[in-house]
Amino acid sequence: MLSLFRSGTSRTVISRNFASSCARLNSTLAFVETSGKTITPSSLSALTAATQLGKPITAVLLGSDSAEAASQLAKSSKINKILVSKSEKYDHYLPEEVSPLITNLLKDGAGDFTNFITPASAVGKNLLPRVGAQLDVQPVSDIIKVISADTFVRPAYAGNALMTVKSKDKQVLVSARGSAFPPLEIDEGASVPIEEIEYVESGNITEFVSEEIIKSERPDLGSAKVVVSGGRGLKNKEEFDKILNPLAAKLGAAIGASRAAVDSGFCDNSLQVGQTGKVVAPDLYIAVGISGAIQHLAGMKDSKVIVAINKDEESPIFNVADISLVGDAFEVVPELTEKL
Ligand SMILES: Cc1cc2nc3c(=O)[nH]c(=O)nc-3n(C[C@H](O)[C@H](O)[C@H](O)COP(=O)(O)OP(=O)(O)OC[C@H]3O[C@@H](n4cnc5c(N)ncnc54)[C@H](O)[C@@H]3O)c2cc1C
Repeated sequence: MLSLFRSGTSRTVISRNFASSCARLNSTLAFVETSGKTITPSSLSALTAATQLGKPITAVLLGSDSAEAASQLAKSSKINKILVSKSEKYDHYLPEEVSPLITNLLKDGAGDFTNFITPASAVGKNLLPRVGAQLDVQPVSDIIKVISADTFVRPAYAGNALMTVKSKDKQVLVSARGSAFPPLEIDEGASVPIEEIEYVESGNITEFVSEEIIKSERPDLGSAKVVVSGGRGLKNKEEFDKILNPLAAKLGAAIGASRAAVDSGFCDNSLQVGQTGKVVAPDLYIAVGISGAIQHLAGMKDSKVIVAINKDEESPIFNVADISLVGDAFEVVPELTEKL
């Protein structure tokens, strides 16, 4: 190799290229989502999963607000490099815009990035299959455990079975379930290089029009430490709010709901917990007037402590509960709230 480095200038250039390709050799590309100027909790969890792959990590952040979030992340000694594109085209993470960029990064100098990881958020769920299709790779979605850089545990059949999956693809693409990994703690021990990257032409014909966000003073359901959830047993929207809001306020909890409660119009569908809703694993989950159908359990059974309040002592929710309270929610919840 040394014989290549004859002139002083070319030695610098060649050796720097060589060093940078070595740094990326056999490494992980992590997609980091931001909300406003901050990194989302599910992305911090995906970054923890990325550290468990045991390879150098390059994080990629996109959109006009990404620079500030990138400079927060740049303090982490767990990250080796950060790529940022501030193009407004990446605001709102339209998958038609984002996937060509990610595919390009993964294709560029094939073999450099052996792994790609994204949070299993709505954005990640939109992105991962597209990138998989564009690279002709089978992604492994919603992993809950990293066994090695190509082998993972993921739930199947609404969480009733856990499968261990080994990817044989050259590049391993995964999404990580937020509740299964603790958020990465940014240790402020480093100053990671940030590189700006260009917008990649996508030929996209879809356009972001508008979004309606339900604003709530309650913590975010996906990352709250305490969740108070209500089901059909709470009868209607007025009772749902009257019973759950004071309890949630006392506990600083997020509010969740069963699908039956959502379908009956008790609350917005963004609060649904379960197989087709959010998957949560708070320190404390209080289920009020919820029967405990498997599709609901799929979204909350990994909570650390489960309290169930139901008037039917045969209710299946009691099979997963750590603390069972058999009683009428309209009597016991106000009493509990008052005692708290
Ligand atoms: C493909 C598919 C996906 C699904 N996805 C989800 C999902 O993501 N999340 C989800 O939750 N469900 C989901 N479901 C629906 C699920 O099967 C159940 O129908 C739903 O969870 C039931 O909600 P519930 O427990 O609120 O209602 P119910 O099953 O009607 O239970 C109400 C409970 O309230 C109790 N109760 C009544 N009055 C009182 C009182 N005064 N005090 C105390 N307790 C009382 C009753 O004893 C009962 O146990 C899905 C179903 C399918 C088929």
